[in-house]
Amino acid sequence: MESGVLVGFEYEQEVKLRCISCGLEYEPNPRLTRCPRCGGLLDVEVKPSTELSWSLWSSRKPGVWRYRELLPAAKGSTPVSMGEGATPLVRLGRLAERIGAERVYVKHEGQNPTGSFKDRGMTVAVTLAKAAGARAVVVASTGNTAASVSAYAARAGLKSIVVVPQGKTALGKLGQSILYGADVVEIQGSFDDALSAVMKAVEEDYRLYPLNSFNPWRLEGQKTLAYEIAESLGDAPDWVIVPVGNAGNISAIWKGFRELYQHGLISRLPRMAGVQAEGAAPLARAWERGLNRPLFVDRPETIATAIRIGHPVNWPKALTAVRESRGVFVKVSDDEIMWAQIALARLEGIGVEPASAASIAGLRKLLSKEVISPDEIVVAVLTGHSLKDPEAMLRAPTRRILARNPEDAVSKVLGLVEIELGKDPTPSTRQLEEVCTNT
Ligand SMILES: *Cc1c(COP(=O)(O)O)cnc(C)c1O
Ligand SMILES: [Zn+2]
Repeated sequence: MESGVLVGFEYEQEVKLRCISCGLEYEPNPRLTRCPRCGGLLDVEVKPSTELSWSLWSSRKPGVWRYRELLPAAKGSTPVSMGEGATPLVRLGRLAERIGAERVYVKHEGQNPTGSFKDRGMTVAVTLAKAAGARAVVVASTGNTAASVSAYAARAGLKSIVVVPQGKTALGKLGQSILYGADVVEIQGSFDDALSAVMKAVEEDYRLYPLNSFNPWRLEGQKTLAYEIAESLGDAPDWVIVPVGNAGNISAIWKGFRELYQHGLISRLPRMAGVQAEGAAPLARAWERGLNRPLFVDRPETIATAIRIGHPVNWPKALTAVRESRGVFVKVSDDEIMWAQIALARLEGIGVEPASAASIAGLRKLLSKEVISPDEIVVAVLTGHSLKDPEAMLRAPTRRILARNPEDAVSKVLGLVEIELGKDPTPSTRQLEEVCTNT
C-alpha cells in the first residue's frame, strides 16, 4: 500500500497511531487508514497538551470542534465544518411509558447537517484529507456516508466518488449525493461488494482518499457523540443503545466514554448495547452463541438499509467495546423495527429512518428480557432522519381517503372527527405483517 508522500505532518496535539491487530506503531500520517503490514484496523490516540475540563469546553460554541483537544486537528488548518454535532438529547414521554421504562433519552442525530451522525466523522476526516493534499475522496456506502462525504467534499473543494448498492439505497440519500455533485457508481451487489471495490481502488491510486469507517481518523469525530451525551447528562448513563452496521459508531462512542473516564470527566462508564436487524446480524448471532468472531452474512436483508451489512469491518473494535462495557448485542425483526419507527413518530413526534428505530426496538426487547431494568438511565442513539427514506415513511399504515370534490372533502373531514381520540396510534402486529410481506 502506498502511504503517500507526507512526512512530519503536524497536529495541534500529540497524536499516536497503532495497529490493533499486530501492535505496530506508525507515524500519525492521515494517509494511513489501515495497517500497511497486516491490513488490520488502526487506532488513533490523541494526547491533549492541556488539562481538560467541562468548563473549558462549555465556554465554546457547541458541536464537534468544541472538543478539539481530543481531536486530530492538523496544525494551522481551518475545519471543514457546517455546524455538525450539538444535536438535541430528548427525553421520551409517552413511548417510554408504553415500553415500561422511566428515563429514556434519545440523541437525535438526524439533526446533523446532512441528516445523520456520519457528519461528525466527516468534518474531522475531510479536514485531514484536505490538509494532506488528497485529490479525491471515495467511499462505499448504503447511502448516508455517501451523502455526508459528498457534502463535506463539496465544501472542501474536493472531488467525491461514491459507490452504492444499486436499487438498495434510500431515495433521500441518493438524491443528496447527486445534488452535492458526487460521481455515483451504482454497483449490482451489496454494500460489502461496494466496500471491497473501494479498498482495491484505493490500493491502486493513492490520490484517492477513503472515508469508510475503517478510516480511524473519521471515527475520532464520531467520539464526540459520547462527549455530548455526558455533557448533557452530567455523567454517563447506565446504557447507550446503538444500531450496528459496520460497527464503527458503537466503537467510536465507547472510545469517547473511555477517554472521558480516563481524563476524570465522568465518574462511571455506560454499558453498550449494539442492535442489529435479524437478516443482517453477524455480531448479534455470534454473541448469542458466545463466539469470538462474527457469523458473517453473505446476503444481508432488512428494511433498515443503513445497517444492511453482512461483513462489518470494525467488528474487532465493536466486540471489544461491548465486552469491556459489560454490554450486549441483540437482534430485532423488521416488524419490530417498523413498530418502533412508527411509535417514535406517533407517540413522540420524532421522525427517524428505519435503521435508527432499531435502537428503540432493541431497547424494547432488552427491557422485556430484563437485561435493562425500568429504572436505569438509557440513551438510544437515533442515527438518521426520517426524510432519508421517503418510501419507508409511506409504508406506515394510516387512513388515506380520496375526496372527489370540495364538498366531499368537507364530509370526509367531518367523518374523521368522530373517530375516537386516544386510541392506540401505533400499528397492530397484523398491520405490520401485511406491510412487511408486501415490500
Ligand atoms: C451508518 C449508519 C448506521 C450504522 O453505523 P455503523 O457505524 O456502520 O455501525 C446506523 N444507522 C444509520 C442511519 C447510519 O447512517
Ligand atoms: Zn498490523
